[in-house]
Amino acid sequence: MSRPVDLTNPIFTDIDAARTHFEGIRWPNGPYCPYCGVTGDRVAVLGGGSMGPGWYHCKDCRKKFTAAVGTIYERSHIPLTKWFLATHLMCASKKAMSAHQLGRMLGLPYKTAWFMAHRIREGMRDMNPTPMGGEGKTVEIDETYVGGRQKNRHASKRGPKGRGPMVDKEPVFALVERAGRVRSHHVAEVNGANLREIVRANLAGKTVIYSDENHTTQYAARGFQTEAVNHSIGEYVRGDAHTNTIESYFATFKRGVMGTYHHISQQHLKRYLCEFDFRYNERTALDVTDSERATKAVKGVIGKRLTYQCGANSGQTETSH
Ligand SMILES: [Zn+2]
Repeated sequence: MSRPVDLTNPIFTDIDAARTHFEGIRWPNGPYCPYCGVTGDRVAVLGGGSMGPGWYHCKDCRKKFTAAVGTIYERSHIPLTKWFLATHLMCASKKAMSAHQLGRMLGLPYKTAWFMAHRIREGMRDMNPTPMGGEGKTVEIDETYVGGRQKNRHASKRGPKGRGPMVDKEPVFALVERAGRVRSHHVAEVNGANLREIVRANLAGKTVIYSDENHTTQYAARGFQTEAVNHSIGEYVRGDAHTNTIESYFATFKRGVMGTYHHISQQHLKRYLCEFDFRYNERTALDVTDSERATKAVKGVIGKRLTYQCGANSGQTETSH
């Protein structure tokens, strides 16, 4: 069982504790200048004055900086304490947390919480994805549909035309290594070429691929050893040949989207996928604690910024309450 977030931790209430916590994550070997890279005695603490605590001065390039420079926290008017609380809540909520709920818990307007959540998701994005699978490893691949439009859907999974639960869906293709990681992709269209490119870019050689028996996924898996179950004749498990792992992952994602976000825009789908992939990959079953997961998400904000503004064109269509 996942332990609850310890909300009494001073990093959620005390700005100095939060800053020290972030400095420890950003600078495990002491502060360095984010502009020119010098460290050690070339960096001086700026004492007191109008700057407040947390400011440093570079003796080489003569610039002033804090640990937040070059991260999503730079130039943010939201205190670090609230950033950490939001990150911990998102990391510890298995079924995700809506921007409305986040806003209520942080005492911030919905739009601010929505914007923060997207920045936090950016920190969850894996910037250096290493190949999954390899010799002796099994990876399940499958597609599913969430939100969005029906026209991009593979013919075999297309629902009735017009209104109904099957319209307005976007295709998602994912790979899950058994007892390992997941990687989800929002694809423009489900076709063999698109899926094959993703398979080849993400899997190490000699991976055994398990899929269902449709032509598209079979084409995508070419060049790998494959096992397939034929869902169309009611076959779901044959020994090790099944896609239960990925189906269960998709179920969690869909429950999150339906139960928490209700609707997410096509424009931002990949960010929500990032969030669910991250929580799965840093899950309790792999001995990752809530606190370690949150620390990893905080580390992920280093070197990342989101520059788009809140407003009419930002696609805020998370219609939960
Ligand atoms: Zn410098």
